[in-house]
Amino acid sequence: DNFGIQEALQRLHVNKENLGTSTGVEWMETNEEYQTSYSPVNGLAIAKVQSTSEEAYEAVVEKAQEAFKFWRKKPAPFRGEIVRQIGNALRERKEDLGKLVSYEMGKSYQEGLGEVQEMIDICDFAIGLSRQLYGLTMHSERPGHRMYEQWHALGIVGVISAFNFPVAVWSWNTMLAWVCGDVCIWKPSEKAALSALACQHIAAKVFKDNGLPEGISSLVIGNYKVGEYLSHDKRIPLVSATGSTRMGKLVGEAVGSRLGRSLLELGGNNAIIITPNADLDIAIRGALFGAVGTAGQRCTSTRRLIVHDTVYEEVKSRLASAYKNLTIGNPLDENFHVGPLIDKDAVNSYLAAIDKVKAEGGKEVVAGGLMEGEGYESGCYVKPCIFEAENHFQIVQHETFAPILYLMKYSDLDEAIDMHNGVPQGLSSAIMTTNMREAELFLSVAGSDCGIANVNIGTSGAEIGGAFGGEKETGGGRESGSDAWKAYMRRQTNTINYTTELPLAQGIKFHI
Ligand code: NAD
Repeated sequence: DNFGIQEALQRLHVNKENLGTSTGVEWMETNEEYQTSYSPVNGLAIAKVQSTSEEAYEAVVEKAQEAFKFWRKKPAPFRGEIVRQIGNALRERKEDLGKLVSYEMGKSYQEGLGEVQEMIDICDFAIGLSRQLYGLTMHSERPGHRMYEQWHALGIVGVISAFNFPVAVWSWNTMLAWVCGDVCIWKPSEKAALSALACQHIAAKVFKDNGLPEGISSLVIGNYKVGEYLSHDKRIPLVSATGSTRMGKLVGEAVGSRLGRSLLELGGNNAIIITPNADLDIAIRGALFGAVGTAGQRCTSTRRLIVHDTVYEEVKSRLASAYKNLTIGNPLDENFHVGPLIDKDAVNSYLAAIDKVKAEGGKEVVAGGLMEGEGYESGCYVKPCIFEAENHFQIVQHETFAPILYLMKYSDLDEAIDMHNGVPQGLSSAIMTTNMREAELFLSVAGSDCGIANVNIGTSGAEIGGAFGGEKETGGGRESGSDAWKAYMRRQTNTINYTTELPLAQGIKFHI
């Protein structure tokens, strides 16, 4: 037994063999194959889950359509109350779910707990929101007319999620979508299906205890093919997809070709600029967690450090010695800083990226490589590494989902900002400085071109209260806080005439 994981699985209703298609309390059997989930922690099989067939998908959509007709008419604060209960159920299962996330995905137990906390936080946010889905009222140009706008539920929201935040991304979408009156069909990553299964059980119990119908929360399991059912389906007005830019382009195209809406949260290539005015203690700590946290598998992981030449050598040597103190091992054991990559394919991409940066002329500062021996049997543990590189290198322009950090030098801040923005992605960014002019320039329209821009904080670790997402090849979507809820609703403008006249807008005359 590994850190109580077997007991946690039991409490989360994850068995050795599980059906994977659910409309809530009901689980459907299909003729599809069972997929085994392996843990990158120790390479062992955790459990099996059955994929969703096209037929079963059809049944799920039909149930969801029916459920929407019911759910949309419930008052939003009532829907908020259901989300409140889901938040409480997550509180009760926080340790178990955090453990499963850590065991199935490989992030540290602390980060697994953090991910569940994020789910709880978004529930709290959504509850408040359920009384605040505000529209504007405006003055009509016509006498005796009233004009206002209101927000209505959209329908079925399809949620396609990535392996690295296997449960939080679902909650960012569904908790908001539910208070907005939508129903949701979730296709989680095939690399983290069990964590999804556990969430579905937790939510389903709350819907059942409240006597609510099947179809408000549905789950479909499988690879990209099941994702394609959602992206091509006209009955799904909104597809929210989180994952690689490659996937986002395909989903965006499929949804766009039927003029549906997509909300895309794709890859990043995040950088920190360290200026001569930086507090270097904070800068080093922020860069370190950003680059090696979650073994570099966060969409907001720090990939590039752009350092002023007067502090470059100091940053380089301090980072190198910090890397020497990193411990790599079982993420459930809190003595280790860095866990495994998700699978061997990810290890191969990491090794290929190291070859590539060397071939392009990169200079090794801290060596990478695969960890071998006791404790590393899964073959997924790698060494976080650092290379001196140039921004135009092909490999630097590309997001490698692993702990590889590229160091670059600058002498002028405008040049640093150009380098910073000179990549195809635009998710998260940071500047380390105590100089107000440098900080404000970075945050100005002439500064960072990313969806997230921080000062004296690393690139990763966003809070749920702000809108989360990025520009350019990151896809442009925004989720979570602020007014991100608007993506899950349709806006209707209403004009009411309470007179006996019928004046036309723009003063147009039309007499018979
Ligand atoms: P991935 O693109 O391989 O898979 C993501 C999801 O998309 C999976 O559920 C997969 O089955 C599905 N999918 C793949 N191809 C599809 C298709 N053609 N049609 C429909 N669905 C399809 O990504 P991953 O390896 O799981 O996750 C890592 C990536 O996700 C990184 O690029 C990371 O930056 C990104 N990410 C972004 C954010 C964000 O908020 N911007 C958050 C987390 C992860």
